[in-house]
Amino acid sequence: MLIAEEKVLERSRPTPQIEFCNVTKMYGQIAAVRELSLTVRRGEFLTILGPSGSGKTTTLMLLAGFESPSKGDILIGGKSVADVPSYRRDQGIVFQSYALFPHLTVRRNLEFPLEMRGINASERLNRVDRILDRIHLKDYGDRMPSQLSGGQQQRVALARALIADPPVLLLDEPLGALDRNLREQMQVEIKSLHKELGKTTICVTHDQEEALTLSDRIVVMRAGQIEQIDTPEALYDRPATRFVANFLGQANVLENCGFKLESDSTPTPGTVAMLRPERICVAASVAPTRADGDLRQSVTGTVEDVIYAGPLRKYYVRAGNAILVVREQVASGQRTFQPGDEVRLDWLRSDIRFVT
Ligand code: ADP
Ligand code: MG
Repeated sequence: MLIAEEKVLERSRPTPQIEFCNVTKMYGQIAAVRELSLTVRRGEFLTILGPSGSGKTTTLMLLAGFESPSKGDILIGGKSVADVPSYRRDQGIVFQSYALFPHLTVRRNLEFPLEMRGINASERLNRVDRILDRIHLKDYGDRMPSQLSGGQQQRVALARALIADPPVLLLDEPLGALDRNLREQMQVEIKSLHKELGKTTICVTHDQEEALTLSDRIVVMRAGQIEQIDTPEALYDRPATRFVANFLGQANVLENCGFKLESDSTPTPGTVAMLRPERICVAASVAPTRADGDLRQSVTGTVEDVIYAGPLRKYYVRAGNAILVVREQVASGQRTFQPGDEVRLDWLRSDIRFVT
């Protein structure tokens, strides 16, 4: 029922494309965002990923209209929003700091955006009931926020952002305060809501796993600028820079490693080789070569350290001048190694990437 009606509403208010055109935001001498150009496609789930202070929240604030650009323009649905105040931008927002009103019940919290839009009481009641049902909190309408768990509060915050059916949804570290299991549950919830409602969604996070799980595309930001934009798989598999390689997962950067690196592609000047830890196989130094040995490079090394982490085991192996991180999926019957053991590492030559 809810889904069908939302679809009808969507047709009357199509979810827009969003464009940042050369946007700069200065705070005094500091450029929080610098010459940022970006197109968010209609209905896309786009994540802005970057370390603390890289300009993610500022980017979202500019789009929400809580800040205005020092230079450049932002277009929503092809129109500049330079003169459109935040309350008229028709966006649902879940900010980390945008907590629920503590003195209002869940129901009143949810009603608030509808009241702001002048929707009558019986329609409000209707919508609140439907959305409470949708977020599995049917019997919680009369509770105060303090009587809910963190995960439940966050679901209500998400519901409050969605209840007026805005065509655009903005999320700033929405799961930052939740513990790991809850975060994974909410990721599934957010993903299914996006699939169902198809709203153009921009999510800000510093959590790489969250970005990889949720997004159609990821923008990696660094010091106010875009470092790289691509799909999660492409970013992880073909990072353009060392920064992206290290921010999205772990990377062995092979520079002056003391052995000659073989690769299928020719590196362009100014680039350095990179190899993901899970692409490296570790075996006893006397083990027979693998069937696809002619496609591989192998080196011998000494185990320096082993870290056991549930389903994964990490080896730190000295080979030549380098210490390579090797990540192995723990499996039964597997040969394991101890610090001091001589081992052979090998990897497909085609798994070597070059980054700047
Ligand atoms: P992120 O969300 O990626 O952690 P922010 O967008 O919050 O980063 O901040 C980017 C930079 O802008 C930081 O150096 C921060 O200190 C600065 N900054 C953000 N907001 C303000 C502000 N209101 N006044 C002054 N500096 C700010
Ligand atoms: Mg932030």
